[in-house]
Amino acid sequence: MTNTEKRILFLQWAAELTIFAKDQEIDFIVTCFKREDEQQHANFKAGLSQIDGITERGNHQDWLAWDLGIIRHGLVTWNPDHGYKILGAKWESLGGYWGGKTVLRSGGRDYCHFGFDK
Ligand SMILES: [Zn+2]
Repeated sequence: MTNTEKRILFLQWAAELTIFAKDQEIDFIVTCFKREDEQQHANFKAGLSQIDGITERGNHQDWLAWDLGIIRHGLVTWNPDHGYKILGAKWESLGGYWGGKTVLRSGGRDYCHFGFDK
């Protein structure tokens, strides 16, 4: 599958996720889509990503991931129980990779990450 074909499929999944979230009355914004190589490497050094962005490319570097911020009472919430797990299960059912099951080197989980693959 070419990168363009992956990007088309990713956006189809993203559209389905957006409609699913609306039906579930879960509002979200996209906080990161495209990430430059330097930022990916900086996130790796900070323990916020498993991927260094140099020897291995991350989905964000190729327009193949969304980081979402779920909105509760007008503000972004990072509580995984405020919709992330519901959207994560939907995302995985579509075939995508959800970051909520991976423990990062920082000790946290990437609940907000909805990528094409790992
Ligand atoms: Zn991400």
